[in-house]
Amino acid sequence: MSEAYDYMFELLIIGSSDSGKSCLLHHFINKTFKDDSSHTAGVKFESGTLNVGGKSIKLQIWDTAGQERFRSVTQSYYRGTAGVLLVYDTTSRASFNDLTNWINDVRTFGSPNIVILLVGNKKDLEEARDVAFSEASTFAQENELNFLETSAKTGENVEEAFLECSKTILAKIETGILDPKCIDSGIVSFLPDYTLKLMMIGNSDSGKSRLRYNFINKEYDNKITICVEFASRIVDVSGKSVKLQLWDTAGVERSRETTRLYYRGISGFLLVYDTTSRASFNALTNWINDIRTFGGPNIVILLVGNKKDLEEARDISFSEASTFAQENDLIFLETSAKTGENVEEAFLKCSKTILDKIETGEFTPERIDSGNGTITKGPHSLVSLTASIYGSMCKFLKF
Ligand code: GDP
Ligand code: MG
Repeated sequence: MSEAYDYMFELLIIGSSDSGKSCLLHHFINKTFKDDSSHTAGVKFESGTLNVGGKSIKLQIWDTAGQERFRSVTQSYYRGTAGVLLVYDTTSRASFNDLTNWINDVRTFGSPNIVILLVGNKKDLEEARDVAFSEASTFAQENELNFLETSAKTGENVEEAFLECSKTILAKIETGILDPKCIDSGIVSFLPDYTLKLMMIGNSDSGKSRLRYNFINKEYDNKITICVEFASRIVDVSGKSVKLQLWDTAGVERSRETTRLYYRGISGFLLVYDTTSRASFNALTNWINDIRTFGGPNIVILLVGNKKDLEEARDISFSEASTFAQENDLIFLETSAKTGENVEEAFLKCSKTILDKIETGEFTPERIDSGNGTITKGPHSLVSLTASIYGSMCKFLKF
């Protein structure tokens, strides 16, 4: 399978010779400082991936590999570039003075919407500093550039620089300023084999949002806002690229009626209870009835016993839940959104079961709203419709 990502961005690193461009790229890819400063001959690029707001972004980053010494970075380099990291050396006034020339080049040869991030590198060499942060910051504002100081030596802000540049590009795509389909945009959007809509359901406080957040961002965050839009991630399921759109009841579960709207068009459910709460377990039967009534009899349900890290507070044994799952024809897993245990497995297991159903003919991928769930090839319109319903509901409910 080809690598799975939502977008691929082409980036270019430019700026005076010895400002640390190659070291920045090296640190971003390898997380180490590149000590030998050999000027690699020829054109060179590296690829890395980033998670930006739940989207997987593949970066293809081009290094000028020494040509900047002869000022022979020309038109062809800028073609098909979505973003530029324009680097100067905070200890070198000459490299800072060069910036105006570089900006002229980018604006002349690059596409009109190209994103430029100004990067002041070698910030670790504080005692040798020749360009103050405030001076560069003012310059950046005047030239409408985003700005950061980095150290390719300590790694400070290196990831942030690439992240910042990618965020700006993504924001331009989302607001329609940049068109990924434009041949010279330097952006490639990835079409997955399948898009599956999964819904997180279950009593409040069972950890649904945390599970989802953990799956998307691979970390636990105690401060996440509950009412957020759906998130998506592309995963590999048995060699197929599958885009998972994860919907969350966003607290709507407190008024059972409203949730029923959401059951349409869902391929699978993660039905979550809290292993330390008998009440959340007792509520499962109602949830299952709802799902089977509104989502269809063949719908895939994965029962998830969350908070398994809280072993001493456990109220529902694994075997009790396992028996319950068998009786109700559910797949079952225990997870911890806190430690991350089984989180990945839960989403993958649910997706795998759905894909298996496609193969046995229980689901038909081409039918967009078959009542069997939306399993489609490529993007489809239902998503935005549901998103708008969902968005308007969020405004009315207090969480
Ligand atoms: P390029 O010509 O812009 O690609 O610059 P290089 O990446 O080859 O780096 C030029 C020199 O600066 C090398 O000797 C690096 O070791 C050094 N260097 C690069 N980044 C940093 C940094 O952040 N801090 C310090 N102290 N040295 C750096
Ligand atoms: Mg270099």
